[in-house]
Amino acid sequence: MTDRYAVIGNPIAHSKSPLIHAAFARQTGQDLEYGRLLGALDDFAGDVSRFLAAGGRGLNVTLPFKEQAFALAEERSERAELAGAVNTLIRLKDGRLRGDNTDGVGLVRDLACNHGFDFQGARVLLVGAGGAARGVLESLLATGLAHLVIANRTESRALDLARRARLLGPVTGCGFGALAGERFDLIINATSAGLDAAVPAIPNDCLAPGAWVYDMLYGDQPTPFCRWGAEQGAAQALDGLGMLVEQAAESFFLWRGVRPDTAPVIASLRHLESQP
Ligand code: NDP
Repeated sequence: MTDRYAVIGNPIAHSKSPLIHAAFARQTGQDLEYGRLLGALDDFAGDVSRFLAAGGRGLNVTLPFKEQAFALAEERSERAELAGAVNTLIRLKDGRLRGDNTDGVGLVRDLACNHGFDFQGARVLLVGAGGAARGVLESLLATGLAHLVIANRTESRALDLARRARLLGPVTGCGFGALAGERFDLIINATSAGLDAAVPAIPNDCLAPGAWVYDMLYGDQPTPFCRWGAEQGAAQALDGLGMLVEQAAESFFLWRGVRPDTAPVIASLRHLESQP
């Protein structure tokens, strides 16, 4: 019987995950179906249990259910524990549900493997302290970077996140005001400011010579944050499309034990995004 997977969220019609996983399945010869599931805002657990009862093997989880998926998982990876959020649910052989978070691996693979960013000794600024920032923290701190600063509009959230991650590596938290005079080799935008065509109010001069900027947001046009980075002279200004495909590849690997080749999938999504 064909194995069933899906992405669950609300709204869900816009999700590119079915396209990505269909491409992975074709490429690797895996017999699976991957659909979209519109989750009921008041019955996430019910939707998941019905999907699994109908033979579902795993789910990707997107907004606004990542925290509920965390609570539902009967066992969790360390990176999911730190994130407090789960984007991948895996039905184990004994029927229990395991929760993982693949966003951080996706971000680091896109930067380091696809684009060649060298994290060794780098000073990295992570802007934002919401779910997206929490999801990538553990993976960033495992890269060998020299120091990670988490800066957030609401300073207390950055301080709190840095405190929780302190045992994993060199990390501090602050508000935007404390960034004056600081320089970074990589600045990652994990805020949702771009959804309102805004850029977080960090100082214009916080890029070190040759610095890169990375926006977790993506779109058919350069994002506001990527445009800002280019204006400040960033050597590279990358959006989050590669991260999207890489986090999906890690989920695919967790479910199927097979690693797809992400490059052709990123290229074809980029091509689709550029179509009118
Ligand atoms: P949350 O709602 O959990 O957090 C929002 C964050 O953005 C907070 O830190 C908030 O600061 C900050 N913020 C919002 N507006 C502004 C602004 N105008 N100026 C400065 N800071 C602002 O959202 P998520 O963390 O879940 O998502 C953030 C982004 O990451 C989204 O755009 C999402 O699409 C993207 N993402 C991309 C992924 C990918 O695969 N490419 C994966 C996951 C997320 P404050 O605390 O002060 O309110």
